[in-house]
Amino acid sequence: KYNPEGDAEFLEDESTKIFARKVAEHYSARTNQTLEEREASVIIHLKKLNNWIKSVLVQLYARRGDAVLDLACGKGGDLIKWDKARIGYYVGIDIAEGSIEDCRTRYNGDADHHQRRKKFSFPARLICGDCYEARLDHVLADDAPFDICSCQFALHYSWSTEARARRALANISALLRPGGILIGTMPDANVIVKKLREAQGLMFGNSVYGIRFDEEYAEKKFSASSPFGIKYLFHLEDAVDCPEWIVPFHVFKSLAEEYDLELVFVKNSHEFVHEYLKKPEFVDLMRRLGALGDGNQDQSTLSPDEWEVAYLYLSFVLRKRGQPDRT
Ligand code: SAM
Repeated sequence: KYNPEGDAEFLEDESTKIFARKVAEHYSARTNQTLEEREASVIIHLKKLNNWIKSVLVQLYARRGDAVLDLACGKGGDLIKWDKARIGYYVGIDIAEGSIEDCRTRYNGDADHHQRRKKFSFPARLICGDCYEARLDHVLADDAPFDICSCQFALHYSWSTEARARRALANISALLRPGGILIGTMPDANVIVKKLREAQGLMFGNSVYGIRFDEEYAEKKFSASSPFGIKYLFHLEDAVDCPEWIVPFHVFKSLAEEYDLELVFVKNSHEFVHEYLKKPEFVDLMRRLGALGDGNQDQSTLSPDEWEVAYLYLSFVLRKRGQPDRT
C-alpha cells in the first residue's frame, strides 16, 4: 500500500536513471520546427489529429479559472488549448531542458514560430524536472491543489519501474484537489501486444513507425512476471526515437485506485475519433485544426499508415476521489 511519508519503497536502480536521461536527451535535442517544416512532415495529419484529441479532452474537462498542472508539458504545444479554455493558472514540468526552454519562449511570445499571438491570459510557472522520480508536493506546495492534471503522450515513461509508476501516481494524487481530474493519452498496450503476437519476430511497424522489443523484455512480457519495465524501442518518423514501456491498462487502473484516482473513461484513439466526431462542435474543431478534409470521414486526411499509428494510442480520464469544493 502507498505510504505518502515513506520513501523506502521508491528506490530506483541506476539503469532506470540512464533510460530516463536517454528519454530527456532525445526530447531535448529535438529542435523547434518552422511552420513550413511542420506542414511538410509525413505525419502532419497524425500530429493534427493528436492535437484535436487533446483539445477535445481540454474542452470536455477544463473550466474557466482552473489551476492546471501539465506533467511532461514538452515544448508547450498545449498552451493555446488551455488559453482557449480560459484557465486561471498553469504549471508545466518536463524533464527535457531544451523543451522547457522552448516552452518558456512560446509562453513569453518572443519568437513564436507558429503564430504571432497576444500574450497568454494566465500566469504560468515552468519547471525542469523528472516528474516520476522526485516528490513534487514540496516543490509545488504554493501552487497546489490543482483542478486538472494533464499528462499527454508521456505517462508511459514512468512505467520503467514500479517505483516510478507509483511516484507518478502519488504526485498526481497529492497535487489534485478532491474531485480534480487527470486527463491523458498514452500507448494502448492491448494494441501493441496484439501486433507483437501477429508479427514475425520482435519488430513491426509501417512506413512511419517502428516498434522493436528486446528478446529479454518480450519474454518478460509473455511470462507476465512483472507488469513494469517491459521496454521497447519506438521510432516515429519525424517525432520520436527512444525507449518506451508497456503500460497494461488494467494494472494502471488498479494502481491508480490505490492513489484515490478512479477511472472515468478509457478509449482507444480510433474509438475516440468515432465517438467525438458525432458532435458538431468537435467536427468544426477538427476542421479548424486541418485534420479533417471536406468529407466527414474521420481519417480522410490521414494516410493509412498514420491512421494505424493513431490506433497505437488511447485517451483516459481519471477523477480524484472526494467531494469537489466548487459548484
Ligand atoms: N505533453 C507534450 C505534448 O503532448 O506535446 C509532450 C509529449 S512528448 C511525446 C513526451 C514528453 O515527456 C517529452 O517532452 C519528454 O521530455 C517528457 N518526459 C519523459 N519522461 C519524463 C519525466 N520523467 N519527467 C518529466 N517529463 C518527462
